[in-house]
This record gives sequence, structure tokens and C-alpha cells, in this order.
Amino acid sequence: MNVLVINCGSSSLKYQFINSDTEEVLAKGLCERIGIDGSQITYQPKDGDKEVTVTPMPDHTVAVQLVIDMLTNDKTGVVKSLSDIDAVGHRIVHGGEKFASSVVIDDEVVKAIEECNDLAPLHNPANLIGINACKKLMPNVPMVAVFDTAFHQTMPPKAYLYGIPYEYYEKFKVRRYGFHGTSHDFVSTEAAKFLGKDRKDLKIIVCHLGNGASITAVDKGKSVDTSMGLTPLDGLIMGTRSGSIDPAIVTFLAGKLHTDADGVLEILNKKSGVYGLSKVSSDFRDLEKAYNEGNELAKVTLETYSYHVAKFIGSYVAAMNGVDVIVYTAGVGENTSLVRKMVSEYLTYLGTNVDPEKNKLRGETVVLSDPGSKVVTMIVPTNEELAICRETVRLVK
Ligand code: AMP
Repeated sequence: MNVLVINCGSSSLKYQFINSDTEEVLAKGLCERIGIDGSQITYQPKDGDKEVTVTPMPDHTVAVQLVIDMLTNDKTGVVKSLSDIDAVGHRIVHGGEKFASSVVIDDEVVKAIEECNDLAPLHNPANLIGINACKKLMPNVPMVAVFDTAFHQTMPPKAYLYGIPYEYYEKFKVRRYGFHGTSHDFVSTEAAKFLGKDRKDLKIIVCHLGNGASITAVDKGKSVDTSMGLTPLDGLIMGTRSGSIDPAIVTFLAGKLHTDADGVLEILNKKSGVYGLSKVSSDFRDLEKAYNEGNELAKVTLETYSYHVAKFIGSYVAAMNGVDVIVYTAGVGENTSLVRKMVSEYLTYLGTNVDPEKNKLRGETVVLSDPGSKVVTMIVPTNEELAICRETVRLVK
């Protein structure tokens, strides 16, 4: 099957076109500045050069049409016609408590996703626009919704409840949902496979450290706790997001900065994290460089970041009463050896280590700890598009 995987934002649309039999990416790209002047589409076929075309995209329907045109183009296309697109998989950010797994999209599902809009007002409406655009242009092609939150729906109440009046959970569904679920599910599955074990026999802690970052405790194949919360602002320190802070900081800073709660939330989402702490960058490549040049604030930032990761790992060892495998994934987890080294220094008590030589490796599935270690520490590259493709095939075949 050929599956078009779509990740739709309010003014962008990322796509990958995957042959599910070989799991080969036939083409991929990005539509940017949809509905804004200067919109452009990037198209990268598997054996060809990357093309960037500046062209008006007044809305997402035009963007999806352009993607279809690129995929079926006589010269640089990878398939002959629209009928070679067998299914579409959509990444949906928030499925609330309604979706504990991926689903085939129909009118009921669209309505249920709409009902989750207030939990992710920036993301879900954009995801729905992508669904509607595809429906318009490919009415007979089956579509599947894959939710960032679904994998975490197995969390027990003790993990998802906050210590606030229960009525806010009852009335407004205020609780921990968690995100990056597609990645945590994929990575924990691949880790078990690589180790030749059944995921049902393992306690795995997945550290998805990217620009957004979250950690999940996966016990016997199920998410039992995760660091992101009602929104992706909770948990670890991230690229530009603060992660968990004392909630009283919001009103304290609002007073000092003569702004309101929304003004402070903007700072906590966009100007905080390693970017705000270091005054250098949200990108760990820049941070590592600054650290190596002796920048004190970069050093403190990386130490603070790693300390928080290690503390979460420790808390999830407690949550599962043990751990067999610790996995690093996503941009920082796969690439930034310095972070892996710093975190691992807190974890030797578990009977695991990060071998300095193996730790030089990046972006590949590899065991970093010594053979015979009580706990395995490893890297497993994430691939959310492939995970969405697999889910889509599973449901439409
Ligand atoms: P993600 O959100 O998973 O795409 O991760 C993006 C982040 O990963 C970037 O902001 C960088 O901080 C980090 N990153 C990506 N590639 C590298 C690399 N080659 N070396 C170090 N860090 C990287």
C-alpha cells in the first residue's frame, strides 16, 4: 500500500508518502506559509533532488492538491495517478479521553475530534482542516486518525489526576493526557524488538528528547505515566518550553511584567526552556558548542536539563518498581552525546552506564551500556511518520 502521512499545522503541512510493504519513503516535503504571502512547497522524491516551489496557497485544500500534483507529476512524481494513493494517515494532537487508539475517520470521528478542540486549541482545528482538505480531494481514499495522546490512555487515575478539586476533572476534563504517544509506542516496540524480547516482559523508560520533550514509563507495553500533562508545557525543560514550574510563578511574573496569565504562558511556551535559561539557543548543537567554549550559562543550562531528565527517570523507576531498559530518542536524545553522558552519571546506581565510545554514535539503534548491565541503556531513532503509516495500514487493510 502507498500511504500519505499528513501532519497539518495552522499554516503548514508536512507530508511523507510511504510504501508500507517496503516501508520506504517514496517522497516527503513541507508546505509552508499556507494562507500567508510567500507560501512555498518543498518536495523531495526518493531518488531525486529537493525542489522548492514558491506558489500561492490560499488554503490547505490548495496545499493538499499541490502535494498530489507533485506526487503524480510526469517527470518527478513517484506514482502515476491519484488512484495510487491507497490511504491517508493524519497525525492528530489531542484525542482527549475519547480516543485510546487510532481510528478510521468518518463523520462521527470528525465530530469527536472537534469536541477535543478546547484541549488543544492551536493544534486540533488545524489537524481537522487537513482532514477536510483531503476528504474534499480524495473522497474515496480511506483516512485514519493517529493521536498523540492515545497511547497514554492506559495511565491509571493516580498518574493522570492532578491534586486539584476533582470536580474540575469531572466538569472540564482537567487531567494529565501526555503527548508524543506515537513516538513512545514506536520506540518502546522497536527497543524490545532489537533486544529480542517481548515488550510485555519489560519495564521501559522512553526519553523522547526533541525540541519538545517527554518521558514515558512503559510497563508491559502500556504507558503508565508520562511527563507532559494537560498540555505539552508540563514536565521536562524543553527547547523553548519551561516544563513543570511552581504554578504561582504565573501570577508572580504577571505582576512583575505588567501582563496577564496569557502573557506569562507565552513566555513559558516560547521564551523559556534551554533557550531562555542559556541566553544562547534552543538548539542543542549551539548549546554544546557554547559549553565546549567555556560558556558558564550554557554549562548550567545543560546541567539543569540533564538533572531534570535524570530525576524523571528516577521517579518512573519508582512508578514501575524497577526498570529494564532506558531509551533515548528524538533530535536531542539521538544526537546529543553530552546530554546522555550527563544524565547517565546519575543512574549508575541502577546498574547501567553509557559507554563513552559507544556514546559517540548517533541516530542509530544501538545499546550504549556494557554487556551484562542490569539495566540496558540504548538509542532508538524515532519515526512518527512510519508509526502513523503502520497504524493506517493496520486499520484499513
Ligand atoms: P526534534 O524535535 O526531535 O526534531 O529535535 C530537534 C532538536 O534536536 C534540535 O533543536 C536540536 O536541539 C537537536 N538536534 C538535532 N540534530 C542534532 C544533532 N545532529 N546534534 C545535536 N542536536 C541535534
